[in-house]
Amino acid sequence: MARYFPKSFVADLISRVDIVEVIGKSINLKKNGSRYKALCPFHDEKTPSFIVTPEKGIYYCFGCSENGNAIDFLIKFENLSFPEAIEALSEIVGLQLPENSKYKEDNHKYLFQAISKANEIYKLNLNKNNDASNYLKNRGINKFSIDRYELGFSPNSWDSLRKSALKKDYENYNQSGLMIKNEKGHYYDRFRNRIMFPIKNISGKIIGFGGRIISNEQPKYLNSPETNIFRKANELYGLYEAKNKKGNIDKIIVVEGYIDVISLTQNGIESVVATMGTAITNSHIKKLKRFSEKIIFCFDGDKAGRAAAWRALETLLLSAGGTIEFKFLILPEGSDPDSIITQEGKSNFENLIEKSMSLTEFLFSELEEKIELNNTDNLSKLVSLVKPLLEKVSNPIYKELIINKLSQKINIKTEKLSNLLEEKNIERKVDAPIPQNLSKNTLIRKAITLILHYPSAARELKTVPNLSDIDLPGIRLLENLIYISRKNKNYNTANLEEHFREDNEGKFLSKLIGEKPLDNKNAAPLVLSDSIKRIIENDLRNKLSNLMNKGSKLTNEEKLKINDIQEKIKSFF
Ligand SMILES: [Zn+2]
Repeated sequence: MARYFPKSFVADLISRVDIVEVIGKSINLKKNGSRYKALCPFHDEKTPSFIVTPEKGIYYCFGCSENGNAIDFLIKFENLSFPEAIEALSEIVGLQLPENSKYKEDNHKYLFQAISKANEIYKLNLNKNNDASNYLKNRGINKFSIDRYELGFSPNSWDSLRKSALKKDYENYNQSGLMIKNEKGHYYDRFRNRIMFPIKNISGKIIGFGGRIISNEQPKYLNSPETNIFRKANELYGLYEAKNKKGNIDKIIVVEGYIDVISLTQNGIESVVATMGTAITNSHIKKLKRFSEKIIFCFDGDKAGRAAAWRALETLLLSAGGTIEFKFLILPEGSDPDSIITQEGKSNFENLIEKSMSLTEFLFSELEEKIELNNTDNLSKLVSLVKPLLEKVSNPIYKELIINKLSQKINIKTEKLSNLLEEKNIERKVDAPIPQNLSKNTLIRKAITLILHYPSAARELKTVPNLSDIDLPGIRLLENLIYISRKNKNYNTANLEEHFREDNEGKFLSKLIGEKPLDNKNAAPLVLSDSIKRIIENDLRNKLSNLMNKGSKLTNEEKLKINDIQEKIKSFF
């Protein structure tokens, strides 16, 4: 649901609300020093591990890691929507809702209606257009599949949909991504000369489209943009159809394209879904886990496919080691699921599925591609590759399993390897700019955690540090947190969380709520300024050593830069 409240209003609300009062209405809180304790309402437990910290405005459960501010509690425990939670809190605090925050009429209903009307039009178009029908025929897609997946066609024209639609619906088409409104206020069709693949949510409602061009133009595939009802990171093409098939789903196969889904199911491989040009997300995995305990990720054997598979692996490590079995099927180079099933048949494809690798097998096969495992010279390289991966694994047994396997492969004792992997400051390439992957023990993560828990520490920094030259994971978030905390003098932890509610950073911050930054909060300003100094100094030293490594190949400009950096480093002493 779209956000209708000014951020400043929500921030004010969060600062005023007494989280103990809010949560205390629903569950029994017991005072414990400056905090409150309770049995966690989000998981079963006999001894209380649910903590409410009024000063920070947040709750945290040490058992299940559930956490958030007062708004989150109302959303998660009372099942309120965001606007409902804001309304409820405003009432408790006695704040008047701002004028412009009256609910917009929920327009989702109209978007769904517009989209489904459009699909009826697209379906009629497909029957009328020979080029489109021939395209599908040539791809081997039969009438049964066309009906099952409700395929359609958008003609090669700027106003085909517009002409078939009522004027009052234009804006709904615009908001559902099927039309585009130009600067002059004119509407025109987004999809032209494309086979239309309707994307359905889990209850069968169409929420967006994928469009495949039938000429040689680019892009080959065009998807609906993100809208209020369509989020690529949450949706899987074909899941609704897979779910509706009779019988149990013993496994789900995840592929990369719409045609792959249709082609496989048409040829007797059931329960196939596809992502929509995005990497696998946790949200996808959560969804899939509801339907099957065995999920097979199928990737094309080319470079792009292997890279996508590795990204999937990195995401899967988070939930690996549970009851769900993840498998990887990397197809021979140059082929995709559609080409294999149509050229080699169902049984050959099933054979490939049989041979698919477990998550661990795939992990090691990829590592072996990158380095020779049986060469001890590569040990530090290996450790630097595996360490960030292991940090993602949440299941401790699974983590140990990987370490054991690895120790066998490289013929080194498990304890020694564990120690190596535990060691801090092992040189490793930083190639993950997203804060989600910001590993523990980094100074940046520590500084972020500090500010999150003690925003006032950022206000006590003598000057605003200049971090703009630094390019490390998490540094932009750190910069942002310093800026926000200094600008808003009354911000507490709950405010900071609220500020990032709709962003990826928000999810990352909520992970850090459970990390205890310090024993003595009075030390926060000093520790923070010290960490920031060290971040800057380390960065300068890295840049310096990179330049020095160039030796005689240095340009004059670079030589000056070295002087400059050396001066800066001196100023730290
Ligand atoms: Zn809990």
